[in-house]
Amino acid sequence: MAAVIPSSASSAFDPPIIPDDMHPPVDLTEGIGRFRTKLATYLKEEDIERVCAAYQFSADAHRGQFRISGDPYVSHPLAVAETLADWHLDAQALSAALLHDVVEDTFISKADIAERFGKTTAELVDGVSKLDRLEHQSYEEAQAENYRKMLLAMARDVRVILIKLADRLHNMRTLDAVRPEKRRRIARETLEIYAPIANRLGLNPLCRELQELAFRHMHPIRYRVLDKAVKAARGNRREVVGKILHAIEKHLPECGIEARVRGREKNLYSIYRKMRDKHLSFSQVLDIYGFRIIVKDVPSCYLVLGALHGLYQPIPGKFKDYIAIPKANDYQSLHTTLIGPYGTPVEAQIRTTEMNQVAQAGVASHWLYKDTQTLPDLQRKTHKWLQSLIDLQSASSDTAEFLEHVKFDLFPSDVYVFTPRGKILALPRGATPVDFAYAVHTDVGNCCVACQINFESMPLRTELRNGDRVEIVTAPHARPNPAWLGYVRTSKARAEIRRFLKTQQNGESAALGERLLAQALRALGLEPAAIAVLDWARFLRNRGGRSKPEVLTDIGLGKRLPAIVARRLIEGRTIGAGDNDEARRGAILIRGTEGVAVQLAGCCRPIPGDPIVGVIRKGQGLIVHTHDCPAIAKQRGEWVDVDWEPGIGRNFEVAIRVFVANQRGVLAKLAAAIAEEQANIVNVSMDQENDAATMLNFTLQVSDRQHLARILRNLRRVPEVVRIARLKDKPKD
Ligand code: MN
Repeated sequence: MAAVIPSSASSAFDPPIIPDDMHPPVDLTEGIGRFRTKLATYLKEEDIERVCAAYQFSADAHRGQFRISGDPYVSHPLAVAETLADWHLDAQALSAALLHDVVEDTFISKADIAERFGKTTAELVDGVSKLDRLEHQSYEEAQAENYRKMLLAMARDVRVILIKLADRLHNMRTLDAVRPEKRRRIARETLEIYAPIANRLGLNPLCRELQELAFRHMHPIRYRVLDKAVKAARGNRREVVGKILHAIEKHLPECGIEARVRGREKNLYSIYRKMRDKHLSFSQVLDIYGFRIIVKDVPSCYLVLGALHGLYQPIPGKFKDYIAIPKANDYQSLHTTLIGPYGTPVEAQIRTTEMNQVAQAGVASHWLYKDTQTLPDLQRKTHKWLQSLIDLQSASSDTAEFLEHVKFDLFPSDVYVFTPRGKILALPRGATPVDFAYAVHTDVGNCCVACQINFESMPLRTELRNGDRVEIVTAPHARPNPAWLGYVRTSKARAEIRRFLKTQQNGESAALGERLLAQALRALGLEPAAIAVLDWARFLRNRGGRSKPEVLTDIGLGKRLPAIVARRLIEGRTIGAGDNDEARRGAILIRGTEGVAVQLAGCCRPIPGDPIVGVIRKGQGLIVHTHDCPAIAKQRGEWVDVDWEPGIGRNFEVAIRVFVANQRGVLAKLAAAIAEEQANIVNVSMDQENDAATMLNFTLQVSDRQHLARILRNLRRVPEVVRIARLKDKPKD
């Protein structure tokens, strides 16, 4: 062991003690040695020591635990960290990889890790654990795309995803030890979720290995048959490949181009997928020869393309320029398909060295190649976000800042939440259960009254987080609350709430309009029932196609005056005196619960029992003030006689101001005096007037004027109370 590990490795890499039970002692020495050597190629001595300490900590924590294969458990985190070392990840990420199963599987907490290895490492471990927990939730097959986005959104740090991918890679490599049905589930998940994420990050070799392993475990028989066929065919192919390779290698220098040419083998999964998706036979798929040509700069790429098209005839429509338009994962290359010697298709990928690096290592190419001379060129040509990353990197070598930047470009800004049935919904960040309800169905939104998030009752305005399981409670006669408009984030929810309220408002306004019209008719000495259908028909004929409900709504909204409509309706009739006193007294009775069509004025806050007066404001409907409200002098609009409906039986808010002498416990006394009359205090605010007195503003809920009078009487009995006034203007909070 000492021969493999550089001298500075210290005791951190001593093999763990294996208990002498049925498990064979597995030698970790080789793996540790290889890991240590990899670290030494790019990490500073102090960072290597930190990683060593994390390894030792993990080995101690997992001591006595074994994988299904019988290997000591720590061999797994070690393998994961080794993959990350291949990608040249930093010491924090490597430590987190070594510790990634510690929180889930041992008694060590996130706080322990933070204390020992720093906050960042602890956050990374926590991030990986969160993804592991998410895996245990079910997801619908059709939802793979959203599930991937959810994973990315939850990770919030590209290193968490990289650790998770390396974790998955090692689990896939050691999947043989797992039960067959579990094997298939994990393989399918790998194919649907993790291979595409690796592809998205541009980690192409990783993506291909995950696909290959997953294919083997999902369809073992198909894999074996295909494997055998490919091996058999490879012998025949070698000659053809050699011939084409030789022709290209000879032709390019003749055109003055310096290039490296490689033959390219397809993996079994891509052969299988081509056969399945394009309905091709095995020989049709395999008889395509792949070559990769790597050159020093972009102009050479196009020169190679020209040279190849001179050598073999290109197949029309098969040329793709991913240099001018890179793929989403920053992949760049020229792709062309030619007709080769025996009439067989030849696929060529042409790219520069830097493009090849990005194609091989994707997002990790940043760590792998940041020191090479090729960066300025990469900077010019790669996709926008990678460009900005490198800009940032050359400006400062602060990894944290770099990673911070990656987040915004890579991770979706949406949040992904589960329905109770395991369906995943994508919502904008900041979305609430109300948005969720409307996203499920308009009726669910309109009838929603409460919600449960992760099986706990939560307010409807709660901001949803990734991975939340949301369940909406509905009630058949519930209606949207205008207050929801204050916090919904989705345009669908906003539009639906508005639409409902408008419909509701029209209904309420029409009802009010009908009552206002009836009152106006009575003032003219007519019962509303005396207006015949014919009168309405005549009236509407001259009103530009408005319907009767529309006219009533207009009246309720203050757009038409009821007295004028009433007179027009009875035009041509001879009316009696028209000043029937009895009828004139028919005030509109209000309850204050009519909704948006009738509003109790905020200035004087009328309560039942107060003498009131109504004014129809254009576009606002009927507004009710107290008789003595100072605001009414300034009001414009049509005045309407209104009165309270008897027996309303609900509470109204009223504001009072109490001046008290400063004494200990005075507020408690006031509260008791109010409570004695079964009134609720909605709000109290306090202002110290001077050393001797304090001003208290209460907002109370009372049923009517008598109720308020009883409360005021109780308050006056409190010795400290100096003065009480009912507030006609909203107290400032
Ligand atoms: Mn793991």
